[in-house]
Amino acid sequence: MDANDRTAALVRNNWLEVCDEVAQACRESGRQPEDVTIVGVSKYVSPALAHQLVLAGCRNLGESRPQHLWDVHNYCDNYEAENAGIPAVNWHMIGHLQRNKIRRTIPTINYLHSLDSLRLASALSSECVLQAVELDALIEVNVTNDTSKTGLPKDALASFLSDASKLPGLNIRGLMAMTSRGASPTDTRKEFGFVRQLRDKLQSDAPDHVCLHELSMGMSGDFREAIAEGATLVRIGSNLWQGIL
Ligand SMILES: *Cc1c(COP(=O)(O)O)cnc(C)c1O
Repeated sequence: MDANDRTAALVRNNWLEVCDEVAQACRESGRQPEDVTIVGVSKYVSPALAHQLVLAGCRNLGESRPQHLWDVHNYCDNYEAENAGIPAVNWHMIGHLQRNKIRRTIPTINYLHSLDSLRLASALSSECVLQAVELDALIEVNVTNDTSKTGLPKDALASFLSDASKLPGLNIRGLMAMTSRGASPTDTRKEFGFVRQLRDKLQSDAPDHVCLHELSMGMSGDFREAIAEGATLVRIGSNLWQGIL
């Protein structure tokens, strides 16, 4: 085995292990593994390594920086063009998106997890209309009102949703949240539970055409708590790159 084969084998093992752990967490919470999508976060690695994760079976890739997302996307596209038969990947932008990056990012993503202002929502909507595409987006909520964190304060959600759900080209599908750094598993679970309750309340007050099915919550350190509280998308990075970084 050369170094590349060894790396590919490691990525594959890590991927299968994460799949197992997520499935296990689903069983423990009485949920179906199919109901939770693993978004493999590739921000730590090169496009070639990110692509190894796709070859290992991951069909959802997440990136927090637009430039890196474009690079990985390009790499995977080129590979697919030369090697027909690799199934398509769903692309998730999970970090803050500056408005000057919108035009180039829209054609490369299926999901934006980090909708955090009405200015961004309006700009995305205009660009989606221009490009004749629809974009699924999640509202990022700052549950703890921690000023060092991104996301909308919980008190702003209802009015934000009311405005954003009227914008053409943009479909609001649910909420995304991150928990406080260093919180205990019990507190982490409470925070995720709180996000789910926020979603339930928003859904019950929302117009009929708005379906807030998705909850993007849980990372390498807290996906079990997130799954127990109803996460439908978990964003896993570090656990997939163990032994590689
Ligand atoms: C990096 C990142 C993740 C993945 O975190 P890990 O702890 O490495 O699993 C998830 N979500 C966001 C928004 C991130 O930036």
